[in-house]
Amino acid sequence: MEIDIKKLPVDIGVVYEGERIRGPDTFVELGGPKVEFKAELTQVVDEKDVVDGKITVIGKDIPQFTCGEKVPFGILLEVYGEKIEKDLEGVIERRVHDFLNYVQGFMHLNQRYDIWCRVSNEAKEKGLTFEDIGKALIWLFKEELPFIEKMQITFMTDEEKVKEHRETALGLYEKRDARIRGMKDEEVEEFYGCSLCQGFAPNHLCIISPQRISLCGSISWLDARAAAKVDPDGPNFAVPHGEVLDEKNGEYAGVNEAVKEYTTGANERIYMYSMFDYPHTSCGCFEAIAFYIPEVDGIGIVDRNFQEEAVNGLKFSSMATQSGGGEQMEGFLGMGIEWMHSPKFFSADGGWDRIVWMPSHLKNRMSDAIPKEIIDKIPSEDDTSSLNELKDFLKEKNHPITQRWKSVVTDELKEKVTEYIQEKNGEIYPDQASADLGLSEDELMNVIDVLQKDGTLG
Ligand code: SF4
Repeated sequence: MEIDIKKLPVDIGVVYEGERIRGPDTFVELGGPKVEFKAELTQVVDEKDVVDGKITVIGKDIPQFTCGEKVPFGILLEVYGEKIEKDLEGVIERRVHDFLNYVQGFMHLNQRYDIWCRVSNEAKEKGLTFEDIGKALIWLFKEELPFIEKMQITFMTDEEKVKEHRETALGLYEKRDARIRGMKDEEVEEFYGCSLCQGFAPNHLCIISPQRISLCGSISWLDARAAAKVDPDGPNFAVPHGEVLDEKNGEYAGVNEAVKEYTTGANERIYMYSMFDYPHTSCGCFEAIAFYIPEVDGIGIVDRNFQEEAVNGLKFSSMATQSGGGEQMEGFLGMGIEWMHSPKFFSADGGWDRIVWMPSHLKNRMSDAIPKEIIDKIPSEDDTSSLNELKDFLKEKNHPITQRWKSVVTDELKEKVTEYIQEKNGEIYPDQASADLGLSEDELMNVIDVLQKDGTLG
């Protein structure tokens, strides 16, 4: 099917990739945080089940909306190609983000069940329709991924239809993700890289292993392997992991080399299983953020769908600004939610025993991944709304992190206790001091022990 993109009402090109459509310039918002039902899905189908170039719209088309509306949105891509394996569905689906952003006046954020798109007032004035967007997508996909022989696209804005589509999509994402559970990093010679997000985060390179899914959660090791095979010049490529330099943290010589090469030296080392010292970089597409909470020496997780402040007083959006852009940011780490199913999930930092806060909906969603002996010990917004409450909750539930408190003495704590002792001219009463400092007597004695050992106290 021949498509002439010059006949479309708006321009198409990589130059529009960075275009941001702000609220006042938006005609209609498709999906997004204020809309419950949204999803994009790619399905590889038999040749007989696809009419190449067919574009279907179920529900209202762009010109029929009223300015300022926020509406449910579904996209279904059905593709056929002799060389296309089922494993490629996730990879093709991820390119929707790129290619929709090539359409002037159209913005696409996030992925899978969480898409957030905007059409600008200007594009609406020019007469942009889903038919035009579909034509642009099909043209771009065929240009960039020539193994796609046929493609048809369905756009949905009808709420019932999007709801149904989302249910189907959630089931299929789960099936995709489940295929790789059980595989181990130690069983393979190669991990895979993805450089797709370098357009806006030049120093970011995703390293995808069987036990660590990509940050966007859309590309597993199997997906990346299939993509590298069929499109060797594309953004997914093999990274032979080479010598294991640090088994606990997941540091590999080959991974370090790839990170250095693909970030032109901006980053030189990464730990695959830790958020400290040399954490994996974050682009901006991560499904969730892990954040270190120094007050309890634990890790909180917040996902994109949680709109309120997390227990550290910061919203996802504020933390995303600190985590993203491709910099190594100790204490904040973008991550794919499926990683929680992996035994390597923060395995170097204590794994689930280190997780001290999650939003309730994420806890429910991931309840099969959270060890049953800890699930009730991890508080959510329903249990705690401040760091003091968090500490009390963890103590009351005897969360495993409390064992760390006994053995780990932070510099901040050492300083606090030293200052207190100096203020009291060296004469303290443990019961009064522990009450004044907000520590148990055991914790206080532990800190004093450390201060004596390091020579701070005589
Ligand atoms: S988040 Fe990572 S895997 Fe996903 S598209 Fe970006 S670079 Fe690729």
